[in-house]
Amino acid sequence: MARRGLLLILSSPSGAGKSTLTRRLMAWDPALRFSVSATTRAPRPGEVDGRDYHFLQRAAFEALVVAGGMLEHAEVFGNLYGSPRAPVEAAMAEGRDTVFDIDWQGGQQIRQAMRDDVVSVFILPPSMRELERRLQTRGQDSAEVIAGRMAKSRDEISHWAEYDYVLVNHDLDATETDLVAIIRADRLRRDRQPDLSAFVRALNAEEEPR
Ligand code: ADP
Ligand code: 5GP
Repeated sequence: MARRGLLLILSSPSGAGKSTLTRRLMAWDPALRFSVSATTRAPRPGEVDGRDYHFLQRAAFEALVVAGGMLEHAEVFGNLYGSPRAPVEAAMAEGRDTVFDIDWQGGQQIRQAMRDDVVSVFILPPSMRELERRLQTRGQDSAEVIAGRMAKSRDEISHWAEYDYVLVNHDLDATETDLVAIIRADRLRRDRQPDLSAFVRALNAEEEPR
């Protein structure tokens, strides 16, 4: 029997490093599935529809929500964001783990619906000054958008204690190592190993070694 795939939720204030860490995790284990969110925000330079996000008009997004096609959805920075349900359910059934880069509202919704399948990690920046520097060096948002994201960052950070694990992303290599450790450990949880009971029964049925 294959285990169900787990749902790894990564949240952080914008700019703390979620997307970069997610890319590194996918390189570490290509069997991980990234949950490509739908959004009504405009693509950033270099973003590819279907890879980074499914870019939708508001009406199309809302129709998907009404049809029950979203596992969770929320309004973030004035745009709608949501995680399409079907690919997540398919991955879980196949025993593949899914990584979500979503905000605290999405984290709460998925945790409420599927608590036993979730491991959640909150990423903190080393300082607010460094967070702003990272948003600036990413070089993809206007000064106005960056100011808006900085203004919302304390709100996002206020939800840190709802997460199973909290990492301060000082150094990318160190944070990646910690994330990998979390995934490795979570995969070994007793309730994620459906074959264990049968394995232990077989152990007990073995003859005593002489
Ligand atoms: P998020 O997805 O959380 O909005 P990103 O992954 O886009 O954040 O990271 C924002 C910027 O900060 C990027 O330019 C990224 O390369 C940089 N960055 C991420 N983590 C670190 C780190 N530990 N040290 C220095 N720069 C980082
Ligand atoms: P960005 O516009 O920088 O890509 O993302 C802005 C914020 O929206 C980030 O905090 C990101 O984690 C969050 N986000 C992205 N996709 C989703 C989603 O599907 N659902 C929710 N709830 N938040 C999302």
